[in-house]
Amino acid sequence: MTARRPLIAGNWKMNGLRADGLKLVEGLVAHLRSGDQAFDMLVCPPTTLVAEVAAAATGSTLLVGGQDCHAKEKGAHTGDTSAWMLKDVGASCVIVGHSERRQDHAESNAVVKAKAGAAHAAGLIAIVCIGETLDQRDRGEALSVVTSQLLESLPEGATPENTVVAYEPVWAIGTGKVATPDDVAEVHAEIRKQAREKMGDDAARLRILYGGSVKPDNAKELLALTDVDGALVGGASLKVEDFWAIAQGC
Ligand code: PEP
Repeated sequence: MTARRPLIAGNWKMNGLRADGLKLVEGLVAHLRSGDQAFDMLVCPPTTLVAEVAAAATGSTLLVGGQDCHAKEKGAHTGDTSAWMLKDVGASCVIVGHSERRQDHAESNAVVKAKAGAAHAAGLIAIVCIGETLDQRDRGEALSVVTSQLLESLPEGATPENTVVAYEPVWAIGTGKVATPDDVAEVHAEIRKQAREKMGDDAARLRILYGGSVKPDNAKELLALTDVDGALVGGASLKVEDFWAIAQGC
């Protein structure tokens, strides 16, 4: 079996002023310094805090990422941030295709693919999010939706080193509803199978995260599933002790 190092990633979304973010990072860094960990830990603060959080994490193993990037390196794109800009201020990863971006900003798989390609070109790891809505699941379309999102969102040149996939059923994000372990296991196994189309045998090394109302009390069971290689955590990543407790499930 291929050993994949789990990744516990926190998506702070549009939360956190400077003092909140720095307090969170200080708490996580203190935990990480307490010993060797069997997982990687990443925080994705709002863009305003990426530089400062990255500076505060310097010298620790805490990884810092963005929540989105533009597909272009620079230019007339008011309000956007490029992958190169994130890299420049200390990010090593960026989330692309989060369902809130797909919904709020009508991002298609093609847009997500271009953003992931930009992340790679800038030297960032792209965390590519996919996941079905409740209607799609109820119609029995979960696997087909997730498969097409995966195949259409992964850029050429995606490898297990520059790409992480996050399966996040839309109906489980921020709702307190969690997919059952059987459902998660089924979708993750399908994602790994389909990833072979893009990566061949290297897909065995691809990290596939689960996201959707992951909390300290359900993390261990989800993280124990064969093809679950970590978690993408929203709400519970805003509290040091909850986020740390989730990571202890690895
Ligand atoms: C997310 O934002 O990616 C997420 C999974 O949120 P939550 O953990 O709050 O459901």
